[in-house]
Amino acid sequence: MALIKCSECGADVSEKALECPKCGCPLDITKQMMSDAKKRKNKQLYALITVIIAIIIVSVAGVFFVKHDNTPGDMAIRIIKKDFGSNISVESIYYNAEKNGCIVKFSANGEDNTATVHLDDKIAGYKSVMDEYTNKSKTSATEKEKTQYAQQLLDYMSVYDMLWEYDLLMNGTSEDGWEKIK
Ligand SMILES: [Zn+2]
Repeated sequence: MALIKCSECGADVSEKALECPKCGCPLDITKQMMSDAKKRKNKQLYALITVIIAIIIVSVAGVFFVKHDNTPGDMAIRIIKKDFGSNISVESIYYNAEKNGCIVKFSANGEDNTATVHLDDKIAGYKSVMDEYTNKSKTSATEKEKTQYAQQLLDYMSVYDMLWEYDLLMNGTSEDGWEKIK
């Protein structure tokens, strides 16, 4: 004979009894309350399971997309798009695993450009910037400006030294470590 606790006084009562022998509370009420509590617990359990399943699905999907969007070429293109907008057309990509960098030939707004992207520090250097400094250092009106632009050019090249590699690469002098990935 199973015993249940009276919801009024807490006494142990046979589940077959109609009312609590101690306080007279009808056992229907106790049984109803037990059943309600069980339903509530089940509901909470289902909600918890749903949340856990949702978290697992989102995590798996997240890992999948991050993995598939993180090849060196994809990363380089993403960085370039930040500056040039999403409407760029990529012509070729060279990757160097040792330098962890990409050289990307692309066109944006009808203009050809070349970017050297360092994947470690997520900075990109653009050949057009170097060309601009070179041009200004030659054609500026005053000597002071010429010197200024020449210095800017040197500063720029020291940061983006891979631009030199690009020149060597495109002239066919050196392809060491560079792999055409697109
Ligand atoms: Zn009772």
